[in-house]
Amino acid sequence: MAVKDQLSIIIPSYNEQDNIHRTFHKIRDLLQKKNIPFEIIFVDDGSRDATYLRIQELSSEYSEAKGISFSRNFGKESAIFAGLEAAVGACCLIMDCDLQHPPAMIPEMYRLWQEGYEVVEGVKSSRGKENPFHTLCARSFYHIISKATGIDMSKASDFKLLDRKAVEALLILPERAPFFRALSSWVGFKTVTLPFEVEERVIGSSKWSIWSLTKYAIRNITSFSGAPMQLITLLGWVMFVISIVLGIQSLYRYFSGTAQEGFTTVILLQLMIGSALMLSLGIIGHYISRIYDEIKARPRYIISKRCGC
Ligand code: UDP
Ligand code: MG
Repeated sequence: MAVKDQLSIIIPSYNEQDNIHRTFHKIRDLLQKKNIPFEIIFVDDGSRDATYLRIQELSSEYSEAKGISFSRNFGKESAIFAGLEAAVGACCLIMDCDLQHPPAMIPEMYRLWQEGYEVVEGVKSSRGKENPFHTLCARSFYHIISKATGIDMSKASDFKLLDRKAVEALLILPERAPFFRALSSWVGFKTVTLPFEVEERVIGSSKWSIWSLTKYAIRNITSFSGAPMQLITLLGWVMFVISIVLGIQSLYRYFSGTAQEGFTTVILLQLMIGSALMLSLGIIGHYISRIYDEIKARPRYIISKRCGC
């Protein structure tokens, strides 16, 4: 049974030792002033620094501080789902540990929930200070995923407050590789959006490298949509049109006696067909590996320690 009126705040934390105390106190001070009952669940995603130690310190001092620690790094999505599973509040809020999601917005999000909204989505009014390449990649990623899902994800973030009903709906989804940002819109419910400015990270550094972002993008696009497979069909049609044009031209030349020695054409065609086939096989292979992962049905995460919950 969910605790009436309680707000559960879930904070995925990976190598955030210097942020834990600061984030906790900032949120605690704010919510105490506003008289909002709360718990804060830090999910230590297999950090290699003293993150869990810091969480334990808080948990032994404050009853509102709780912690879960993974046996290794399972990724932010897994951390979010572990937090949702452990939360007992009537509503749950997800936010980053680095205070890039402004805590000052929490009372307003909570108020909207009390008014009857079941999903309060924080949307980025700007992307904060990022390098232009990162912005371009993020834009392309969100463009593809928005097209594939039919949900506008261009400004979406993980900064969301969900009613218990929405949390339960998310928790019964069986997929092994959930994409929280899209699924929390996909489940529906009465939703309101609230724009926020992305703060700059003050302590520590972003956990995302270009490589990990690329993997994250591919994983989420393929776990949410089959659109890349349709791309193969499209590619097939394009090749088909090209082959008709080239076929007619070659036959015309042959019969009119002007056919050239066509080694260059043959080489080019081989290369084109070869890469199109390998690319298509790669995409299909990726989906097969996703199916393989789902079928193995390994847990999304493994918990090694917990405190306060
Ligand atoms: N995070 C996590 N597991 C990971 C990577 C990140 O739990 O494998 C957490 C991280 O501690 C932070 C949040 O996810 O609370 C957002 O990460 P980060 O600030 O590095 O991302 P950015 O803000 O640069 O998108
Ligand atoms: Mg951040």
